[in-house]
Amino acid sequence: MIGGGLAGLSAGVALAEAGFRVRLYEKRPHLGGRAASYVLPGGEHVDNCQHVTLGCCTNLADFYRRVGAAGKIHFFDRLVFADSTGRRGTMEASSLPAPMHMAGSFAAFPLLDWADKRAIANALVAIARAGGRPDDADGGVNMLDWLRRRGQTEAAISRFWGVVLVSALDEELSRTDAHYGIDVFWKAFLANHSGYHVGIPSVPLGELYGGCLAAIEKRGGEARLRAAVRGITIEDGRSAGVEFENGAREIADYYIAAVPHDALPSLLPAPVVERHAEFRNLSRLRSSPITGVHLWLDREVMSEPFLTVVDRTTQWIFNKTALSESASNGANGSSGANELKSENTARQYLQMVISASYDLIPRSRREILALAWRELSEVVPAAREARLVKGTVIKETSATFSPEPGCDRWRPAQTSPIANLYLAGDWTATGWPATMEGAVRSGYLAAEAILEAAGAPARLLRPELPTEGLSRWWAG
Ligand SMILES: Cc1cc2nc3c(=O)[nH]c(=O)nc-3n(C[C@H](O)[C@H](O)[C@H](O)COP(=O)(O)OP(=O)(O)OC[C@H]3O[C@@H](n4cnc5c(N)ncnc54)[C@H](O)[C@@H]3O)c2cc1C
Repeated sequence: MIGGGLAGLSAGVALAEAGFRVRLYEKRPHLGGRAASYVLPGGEHVDNCQHVTLGCCTNLADFYRRVGAAGKIHFFDRLVFADSTGRRGTMEASSLPAPMHMAGSFAAFPLLDWADKRAIANALVAIARAGGRPDDADGGVNMLDWLRRRGQTEAAISRFWGVVLVSALDEELSRTDAHYGIDVFWKAFLANHSGYHVGIPSVPLGELYGGCLAAIEKRGGEARLRAAVRGITIEDGRSAGVEFENGAREIADYYIAAVPHDALPSLLPAPVVERHAEFRNLSRLRSSPITGVHLWLDREVMSEPFLTVVDRTTQWIFNKTALSESASNGANGSSGANELKSENTARQYLQMVISASYDLIPRSRREILALAWRELSEVVPAAREARLVKGTVIKETSATFSPEPGCDRWRPAQTSPIANLYLAGDWTATGWPATMEGAVRSGYLAAEAILEAAGAPARLLRPELPTEGLSRWWAG
């Protein structure tokens, strides 16, 4: 296994549980890849960026269960939106059948007017009636065009569709394939009651993966950190071994490349990449950025666990102090909040997230901190009285592949043209956008392909949540 992100870990654990001796090589000093955490020089545990899951992410939930991490994910069934005047609006499910379960809170939602709501409701009903697959979203139309064709108001687009989708898909609406955008609403908000529940780890991300090592080692395997693979040797159309930066070599019966899409071609001989469209086309997948702003304040200013922000550059504000305290209440000794209390003056740790943050990439960290502070003061007025003890900006320029119209053409299957080489990663063909769920799906699919090749086929992929209520009837 080359790569210890969620794709590599999920494939590794599943194969180890199926009796394989797995050797996993990760070039960094920690597991988790893009969904990892590390310790700052001041001793604070920070996530690479806040990661959230949703109720509809059934394979990620299965993976967390397998590695004993499910209890470290705290689920919320109430979404609080905030605007720049400090106003709040909430969305939550009632007992009405899907897809009407959010209708009550949507009708009362104060941040949209009736014309916006009518337009949104019409589009949502169209999605639900088509079982998540409306005909006019095929053929590479972008989400913004689809919304305009569906008569959405500008406020509906910016204060509703954009708020949900830019953060869910890490891309602007005009650069997003409509089928990805529609899928988010179908799976999370329309098909069933619990798909929209937001799951947030109550520990630093790195603490979720301890069970992976145990599962792999229990079957005689190992995971090696700081072990960068330099190349995969191909002989007679098969992988014949991997070479490491230090010149060492390893051979195996099966190989999984679970590295990011832009890292794979450099591991393969150039003629192999040239010969096979699956590898050659990877350069056509573009990446989009995410910026995280970490703020340590001298007092508590925010009581909600998290806020979704409308009309501002910031899309989410996470109350890291409350999130790590609420679910675990001190059960996990090294959580960021506990570290925070021992610091001299910081009393609250907040993290702000900006997806598709193209405009921020050229800006200095100082400018980004100033912008984040200004927006925090607008959305959470109590912050105006607070002092910033410390701030950090983490820019991920290649956070995820961009779900551009037609990008599915460039996403290869988990089996590859090289006989015993398998591919895993959020960028492989999973049907899902670049998410932790997509990464785990890819890992399970790669593991299924190996089990099949080894003559022991097994189903690892978990089904979607069941389609309920009227949505089920409409979807046929
Ligand atoms: C800032 C940010 C915020 C995000 N927020 C969310 C979110 O809220 N919810 C969500 O679902 N998803 C989110 N994502 C996306 C999610 O993190 C990814 O989709 C997922 O983690 C990808 O997993 P992966 O295993 O496919 O790839 P990666 O995590 O990239 O793993 C690949 C691994 O391969 C290793 N590697 C590379 N080259 C080599 C080599 N030569 N030898 C050995 N190892 C190598 C890398 O070090 C890495 O550990 C976010 C991503 C980012 C960057």
